[in-house]
Amino acid sequence: IAKRLEKFKTTIFTQMSSLAIKHGAINLGQGFPNFDGPEFVKEAAIEAIRAGKNQYARGYGVPDLNSAVADRFRLDTGLVVDPEKEVTVTSGCTEAIAATILGLINPGDEVVVFAPFYDSYEATLSMAGAKIKSITLKPPNFSVPIDELKSVVTKDTRAILMNTPHNPTGKMFTREELEAISLLCAEHDVLVFSDEVYDKLAFEMDHVSIASLPGMYERTVTLNSLGKTFSLTGWKIGWAIAPPHLTWGVRQAHAFLTFATSTPMQHAAAAALRAPESYYEELRRDYAAKKKILVDGLEAVGFTVFPSSGTYFVVVDHTPFGMENDVAFCEHLIKEVGVVAIPTSVFYLNPEEGKNLVRFTFCKDEETLRSAVVRMKEKM
Ligand code: GLN
Repeated sequence: IAKRLEKFKTTIFTQMSSLAIKHGAINLGQGFPNFDGPEFVKEAAIEAIRAGKNQYARGYGVPDLNSAVADRFRLDTGLVVDPEKEVTVTSGCTEAIAATILGLINPGDEVVVFAPFYDSYEATLSMAGAKIKSITLKPPNFSVPIDELKSVVTKDTRAILMNTPHNPTGKMFTREELEAISLLCAEHDVLVFSDEVYDKLAFEMDHVSIASLPGMYERTVTLNSLGKTFSLTGWKIGWAIAPPHLTWGVRQAHAFLTFATSTPMQHAAAAALRAPESYYEELRRDYAAKKKILVDGLEAVGFTVFPSSGTYFVVVDHTPFGMENDVAFCEHLIKEVGVVAIPTSVFYLNPEEGKNLVRFTFCKDEETLRSAVVRMKEKM
């Protein structure tokens, strides 16, 4: 294996999902819904296939989807973007992140990330030869330590890679935090890569895209996808929105990574993004109910549950149960209790961090969530 990937193991999501199957455990680990996406979107995909939309798509996206992405972005942020020059469709947000990093970062460039972070960030930054600077968000609120950020962001910084609502903690960046980040970016001429795939799962506050702050659009790549919002994580449709001078780099990387994304699924994605506002309201309402079942349940079991404002994840402190660390706790939980969670220490640059925390997802039907809580109450 190439040196740049030597240190990475099989992704924690793959590891935990195979253990879930092996032990017949309830999987509250990997974040994928155990229910299906909406009928009208599935129908649109079937129609597109029947209508013969089955050959390579235009590299940067089928025109209808580029337009639907731009329209949705205008509704969400008020920003008017050119679907032809500023939107790039990719195979999931994970590819959009990779294309952004590989297309805009040179070997040796410094990139700031906020730990705990989604595991692909470190691997992709490593493929690009970036120098990673990690800042840790700490419980209970996982607030951005602004002074520490100021000490890390310098003229050598090329970009800040952020994620709001934040996986795994559920933290949402406040307007004040985003303003502080924006000031630093303007001062030191730094780019922002903002992963916003959980933007429609915002419960406690409104989601703010950093691109919408004064002066920020021109230095921001906003990354998003269809998977979480439409419960279609297997479709792998994502996109990057950025001004033309940044889109150029993203598109060049995308052109040689995957060239284009599944054509019929792009047509269906366009139909999805034109869903009425009531779709998004219902999604949020359903998820709020699921979240309550899981959070109340985990508290009743005896965990300290940290407040999560968005995403479909919550992070808890497992130390009341006396296990050595997060990995040992998750092993015990799978084998003795029959429930899967994700250890968070894999989401830090320094693996000594995050050992007291584990992540649970509530993107499962209510029955499944209740059964997981019952198992934990009985066996822990
Ligand atoms: N983003 C999802 C999670 O954090 C799944 C990621 C994956 O399986 N690669 O659980």
